[in-house]
Amino acid sequence: MDHKICYLCGNELNSEIDKDHIPPKQFYSTEIRKKYSPNLFTLPVHKSCNSSLQLDEDYFLNSIAPLAGDSFSGKYIWQDIVRKSKRSESKKLMLKVYYEFQPNLSSLIMPNGKIIKRFDGKRIYNIVWKITRGLYFKENNKFLPENTHRDFDFLSVGQKPPIKFNYILNSKSKGDYPGVFDYKYVEFKEINNFNVWAMLFWNRIIIFVMFHSPDCDCKFCFDSKT
Ligand SMILES: [Zn+2]
Ligand SMILES: [Zn+2]
Repeated sequence: MDHKICYLCGNELNSEIDKDHIPPKQFYSTEIRKKYSPNLFTLPVHKSCNSSLQLDEDYFLNSIAPLAGDSFSGKYIWQDIVRKSKRSESKKLMLKVYYEFQPNLSSLIMPNGKIIKRFDGKRIYNIVWKITRGLYFKENNKFLPENTHRDFDFLSVGQKPPIKFNYILNSKSKGDYPGVFDYKYVEFKEINNFNVWAMLFWNRIIIFVMFHSPDCDCKFCFDSKT
């Protein structure tokens, strides 16, 4: 595979290079990394590009992983979070996530007692989009610009996926360690290489990503590029 450009900015790599894990390394809990020594996928990126989404990544982990606390891989992530929360710099983040869980106006209690957690969608989707761009680069060896027109769909734990996603859910799994992170995608060549991706986090949370290929010239894509 040709890795001469940085998948985050699209420019040529220089001597200041970092290895970026896709998905983020901390999505694999300390326990899982120790037990199974998984061979995690990385792409080379500019050092300067790599740190830009660190806070969003931490937020993703603290906010989303607790929803998967009853899965094998999710349980260990929770242990990591608890351990880190004892460090003062993580306390503020934990507090924010804690308040999001409170059954007040910010969360809805469903008839079956489930709490729908409110979260900062923008930060969550920043991370999902970064992972998508990395995997797109891995699969196609092609740069997917940050400003590509895209859309997301988030499924709550146990929620049945809408029928429109059946096609993708029946396609082949691509994750190396699907119990931690799995993904599938379908590209519809006949409609502007429209891409639909599904990602499974810690065997519980499914997020869909839809976007047009980088060379699409439909109105949305044209507008977002100009
Ligand atoms: Zn870069
Ligand atoms: Zn388009």
